[in-house]
Amino acid sequence: MSGLNLAQQEAVNFMHGPCLVLAGAGSGKTRVITHKIARLMQGGLEAKRIAAITFTNKAAAEMRERAKSLVGRQAKDVLVCTFHALGVRMMRQDGSVLGLKPQFSILDSDDVTGILKDAGGTTDAATARQWQWTISGWKNGGLNAAQALAQAKDENERVIATVMARYEERLTAYQSVDFDDLIGLPLKLLRDFPEVREKWQKAVGHVLIDEYQDTNATQYELLKLLVGEHGRFTAVGDDDQSIYGWRGATLDNLRRLPVDYPTLKVIKLEQNYRSTSAILRAANNVIQPNPKLFPKTLFSELGEGEPVRVVDCDSEEHEAERMAARILSIRGGSAAVASGAGVHKDWKDFAILYRANHQSRTIEQAMRKAQIPYKVSGGQSFFDRAEIRDLCAWLRLWVNNDDDPAFLRCVTTPKRGIGHQTLGSLGSFASQYKLSLFEALFSPSLPSVLNARALGSLQEFGRYVNDLEFRARHTVGAEDARTFLGEWLKEIGYEKHLYDGEDNEKVAAARWTNVLDFCDWMAKRCGGEIDDAAGVATQNERKNVLEVAQTIALLSTISDREKDRDVVTLSTLHASKGLEWPHVVLAGCVEGMLPFKPEDAEGGVVSESFAQRLQEERRLMYVGITRAQRSLVVSWSKKRKKGRELVPAMPSRFIAEMALDTRTAREDPREKLKALRAEFAQKSAEAAAAAAAAATPGAA
Ligand code: ATP
Ligand code: MG
Repeated sequence: MSGLNLAQQEAVNFMHGPCLVLAGAGSGKTRVITHKIARLMQGGLEAKRIAAITFTNKAAAEMRERAKSLVGRQAKDVLVCTFHALGVRMMRQDGSVLGLKPQFSILDSDDVTGILKDAGGTTDAATARQWQWTISGWKNGGLNAAQALAQAKDENERVIATVMARYEERLTAYQSVDFDDLIGLPLKLLRDFPEVREKWQKAVGHVLIDEYQDTNATQYELLKLLVGEHGRFTAVGDDDQSIYGWRGATLDNLRRLPVDYPTLKVIKLEQNYRSTSAILRAANNVIQPNPKLFPKTLFSELGEGEPVRVVDCDSEEHEAERMAARILSIRGGSAAVASGAGVHKDWKDFAILYRANHQSRTIEQAMRKAQIPYKVSGGQSFFDRAEIRDLCAWLRLWVNNDDDPAFLRCVTTPKRGIGHQTLGSLGSFASQYKLSLFEALFSPSLPSVLNARALGSLQEFGRYVNDLEFRARHTVGAEDARTFLGEWLKEIGYEKHLYDGEDNEKVAAARWTNVLDFCDWMAKRCGGEIDDAAGVATQNERKNVLEVAQTIALLSTISDREKDRDVVTLSTLHASKGLEWPHVVLAGCVEGMLPFKPEDAEGGVVSESFAQRLQEERRLMYVGITRAQRSLVVSWSKKRKKGRELVPAMPSRFIAEMALDTRTAREDPREKLKALRAEFAQKSAEAAAAAAAAATPGAA
C-alpha cells in the first residue's frame, strides 16, 4: 500500500464488487489499476483470472512492466491488453461457434478500404473511406447490413447499406474480420451462446479498465456480459478527458454505471501528483466552462512552479524554431552538455503536442535543423505502410504457406484475375475441410467446387509461391538477394500496381522508393555488408532470403522499445492521453485548429453542432495541459497554412480561458472542494432518485 493515498487505498482494497474511480488528470488512476492487480493477486486471485484493459497497446506494455515491478514474474499471466486484443483472444478460442477459423485474419483500415472499393465498384478512395466511416458507425451501433438498409434515411444510405451487404459477404468468404468486429463479434458470442458466456465469466475473476470515459456502447455491453451479475470490475476514468466522442465513445457509459450497478462504489481522487499548481490552475480554468457530469477539482502539493507561458509567433516555421530553441535552452544545448556546465536534462523529458498529424511536418524540419533527436508518436511506422505490408505478406507466405491473411493479400496484390467469388468458394471449401487456403489449392476434391479456369489460376499461383520459396531458400548473400528480389517484383508487376492504384504520381513514386529501400535493407541482411545503426556492426554471416524473411515478423516489436530512447516526443494530443513529461509545448493553439473546425479540413464531415464539439475540443486542451509536470508553453502563430494558402490566425479561445494573468483564480482549491462535495452529494441523490423513478414501471 506504499505510495498510495487513502482514497487510492480504498479503491485498491475494494475487491468484491463494482468500483468506479472517477477523478481528474494525474490523480493516480492508472496507478490504482497497477496496484490493484497486485492486491488482487495477494488476495488469492490467480494472475490468469485478472484482466486489465488499456486504451492502447503501448499503455498495455507499460502496465505489464509496472505490474511486474510490483509482483514479480507472476505478473506475466495477467491478461493486460486492449479491448480489441481481448476480442481477438475470445474469437480465437470460441469464434468457431460463429463459423470462424481460429487463424482468421484481421483486416486493417487499408484492407477494408480496398475491399469496399471492390464491393462498391469505385476507384475513388475518398468515397470508399466515407462508406467505411458510415459502416463502422452502423456496426458499432449493432446494425448489420439488412438492418442498416431497413433504417436508411436517404438514397445515399441505401447505397452504402447495399455495399455493406457485399462487404459482409466478402469478409465471411475470406474468413476475415475488421476492427469493429473484434468488439462486435465477441459481444455476439457472449450474448447468444450461454455456454461460452459462462465459460468466460468463470475464467475472469476481476476486470480492470483504464480510460473508461473513452469506451463505446458496444464495449460497455461486452464488459457487462464479461463480468456478469457480480460485477467484479474496477473502472477508472475522467469525464473531462473524454476525447474520442467522434469515434463513438460515449459518456453514457459513465452515467449508466450507477444505474446498472446499484451497489457501485464510487471513489474520487483529488490530489494531483503530476503537475505544479500553476499548470493545474490553467487546466482547471480551461475545463471550467464545460457542464459537469460529476463535479470535481484537483489540487497539487508540488508548489506554484514556473508560470505557464504563452508564446506568439509570426508563422508556423517561426513557431517551430522557437520550440527548438526553447528545448535547447532548457536542456543546456549540446555545447553546454559537452562542457558539463549546467544541469543536463534528457531529450525524453520534452514533448511537443499538437492537434493534427500534419502539424508535425514543420516541427520535424525545425528539430532536424537544430539536431534535436525526436520521434513522432501516433504517426505511421515504416512497417505499417501499405506497400511494405504487401511485401511482408509475400515473405510471410513463403515462410508459412498456411498464413491465410497473407495468402489473401498476395493473391489479390497485385491483381491476377482471381475474383472474390473464386476466393469465396476456396474459403468455404477450406473451412469445411479444415485446411488452410494454400493446402486447399492442391486438394483432390477442390475441382468439384471450382470451374477449370478458376482452378487453373489458383493452382498456378500456388506453384508460383512454391517456386519463390525454393528460390528464396537458395539465394544467399546480399548481391544475389538484390537480384532475386528485383526479379520477383518484376514478375508480379508491383511497380505498375503502385502507379495504377494511385492517382497522384508523386505518391506512387514515394511508395516505390519505399519498396526499393525495403528490398535493399532485406538484401543487406543476407550478406556480409551490414551497416545497421541499431545493431552492432559485425561482419554478419551469409544467410538465405528465407532465413531473413523469417525474422521480419519480429520487427513490429522494435517500435515497442521506442519509449526507452532518449528523444523528444512529437505527438498528437489524442495520442498523448495517459502520458506525462516534465516539459510540454502545446503547439498551434489557434482558432480553427484547436478548437478544430472541420469545415477547414479537407473532406471533413460535420455531424454535431459546434457547441457540442467545442466541449470535446476543450477536453482535448485539458488533456494537453495536464500532460505537463514542471513547465508548460502554449504557442500559436499569427499566420497558418490552410490548404496551400497562408491565412491570418487568431489565438485559441482556450488561451484566454486558461486565465493566466488573473491572480483571482488563486484561491485554495481545497476550499472549493468542500462546496463541490456538497453539490456532488446533492446531485448523486437526485440522480439516484431519477434512476429509481425510471426503473419503476409506469413512470414517465
Ligand atoms: P491521467 O488522467 O492523465 O491518465 P492518472 O490519474 O492515471 O492520470 P497516474 O498516471 O496514475 O494518473 O499518476 C500521475 C503521476 O502521479 C504518476 O507519475 C504517478 O506515479 C504519480 N502518483 C500517483 N499516485 C501517487 C501517490 N499516491 N504518491 C505519489 N505519486 C503518485
Ligand atoms: Mg491514467
